[in-house]
This record gives sequence, C-alpha cells and structure tokens, in this order.
Amino acid sequence: MIVIIGSINMDLVLRVPRMPLPGETITGGQFRTIPGGKGANQAVACARLSADDVKVAMVACLGDDAFGAELRAALRKDGIDDSHVTTIAGTASGIASILVDDNGQNSIVLASGANAELSPAHIDAARGLIEQARIVVLQLESPLPTVIHAIRLAHALGKTVVLNPAPAQALPTELLGQIDYLVPNEIEAAMLAGMPASGIDNDEQIAAVISKLRAAGSTNVLVTLGDKGVYAALESGSEHVDAQAVKAVDTTAAGDTFIGGFVAALAEGRSEAEAIALGQRAAAISVARVGAQTSIPSRREVAD
Ligand code: ATP
Repeated sequence: MIVIIGSINMDLVLRVPRMPLPGETITGGQFRTIPGGKGANQAVACARLSADDVKVAMVACLGDDAFGAELRAALRKDGIDDSHVTTIAGTASGIASILVDDNGQNSIVLASGANAELSPAHIDAARGLIEQARIVVLQLESPLPTVIHAIRLAHALGKTVVLNPAPAQALPTELLGQIDYLVPNEIEAAMLAGMPASGIDNDEQIAAVISKLRAAGSTNVLVTLGDKGVYAALESGSEHVDAQAVKAVDTTAAGDTFIGGFVAALAEGRSEAEAIALGQRAAAISVARVGAQTSIPSRREVAD
C-alpha cells in the first residue's frame, strides 16, 4: 500500500494569453474546474501508475461544500481509499486559482480551506493505515506541525518516507534525516539548503545545493528540473537524467506525476533508475495535456 498524506484542492483553471501585470485586467479564455491539490494529485498519479495489486490511500481533509463532494468522488473514481479523508463541518474545501498562459507556464494562488484543519490527531487516527503502507508520501500544503508529526510516525514505523517539499519553505534540519527520498524542484531545493534560488541553473550548482542537504542529513535527493529532467543524488550514486522531449501545453502537476510514477515503481520493488524513468515518462505525457488530475496518464498509456 502507498499512503499519501496531504492536500486536496479544486483547481479553478483559466487560460490566458499572457500573465496580467499588477493592476491590469485582461480577458482570458476557457475556464474549467479540475480536481487538484498536491496530495490528491500524487495519490491519483500513484493509483493510475501503480500495478493493479498496489492499494493507494489518502489521509486528508475536505470542506462540507459542493467541491468537497466532487473531490471525494474523484478520489474514489481512481480507486483511492478515502476512509481517512475527513469532511470538516462549516469549512470550505481548498481551492487553487490557476492561470495558464500560451507557453504552458502557470501562476497559482492557493486558499487552503479544510486542508488547514489536517491535524496530528488525524494522523494518529490513521496509524493503522500507515502501518499497512510500504511507502508514505507527503508534501507541504498541509500544516507543518502535522507534516512533521506524520514524518516522525512513518519513519518510526520503518516506512519509506517520500517528501515533496512544496510549496517551498524551510524545514527543521533534524527532519531531513527521517526522509528516505526528498524530491524538491530547484527552487524548493535552494530554499531548503538556505541558498538563493536564482543561482541554480547548472549541475555544479545543483550539486552544491545537494551537498548542503546531504550534510543536513538527507540521504537521497531528486531535484526535478522541468524540461531539463532530474538530478538524482542517491546513496548508490549521482546522475543527471534528461527529460523526455515533448511540447509543453500545461506543466501543472508535472512534479506530482513524476512523484506518482517514481513511488509506484518503488512500491513494486523496481530499481531507483526504473522509478525515475517511469516518473519522467509519465510527467512528460502530463505536460502535453491540460490540467492537474486530468493530465495524469495511466500505466497503460505510459507503456504505449
Ligand atoms: P509543478 O509544480 O508544475 O507540478 P514542479 O516544479 O514540481 O512542477 P518540474 O521540475 O517542473 O516539477 O517537473 C517535474 C518533472 O516533469 C521533470 O523532472 C520532468 O521529468 C517532467 N517535465 C516537466 N516539464 C517538462 C517539459 N517541458 N518537458 C518534458 N518533461 C517535463
């Protein structure tokens, strides 16, 4: 089993010819609501990309609004166990307001809503589920004390812990030693290492960031680099693995899809190299399609 602990949002996606400047009004194109949130995206990616016998479960909170019902239905549609997805009375579900421009770049504002209610008590209530997991996956769209509590519990139970430290923020250093795979993008990696994000655009600078993270206790670090692929600094060795060449339409959930593929392969007992390959193949398909969960491919599509 793979357990994902994290956020569920409704993405309110508006296509724009270009990003508006401060104070400017522009006319956008098509508007859609698409299930998203880093936690839910990663759960859906794990479910679609893992072998049929691998179960996927989520620990999360939803609001008691129409979005909440729709988001729960979306998880169930992908066969995700939602028994520890709690509906919080009188609270709105999390939303993300997303602008996507003609170059496929996105700009996002989050309102965490019910995601802010995910507490250490919810994690403790899900202990039985976490005990059944082989891999536990987390992000930083949930309250930090809850994330820290969950990482400590999963690590103490001997689970493989994967953290996608997004959105970028600093973390207590001692936590890094309890994470088996840290999967940041360049900006998040720089933030964790306490270095300026602007200066990271070649392998040498990425290696410098990673050596800082390693000194702080991280064993395996995979820095995702958008269309430049992944820099994997693993216990077994370091390498830069190129991305698949595709025309990007919408990069929303590229990182989530990469993590889903990577974790799905690890859960089957595949090698780290195979896991990186599955993650990157799946992510390349997702950037060629619109939306978060709508863009995540199935294992069969990746195989084809
Ligand atoms: P997001 O927040 O949009 O989900 P991210 O910043 O977390 O993305 P990225 O580093 O942009 O993650 O992308 C994750 C992975 O997706 C990359 O390592 C790569 O494999 C794949 N990817 C992203 N963009 C492209 C692209 N333009 N072409 C091919 N592959 C891509």
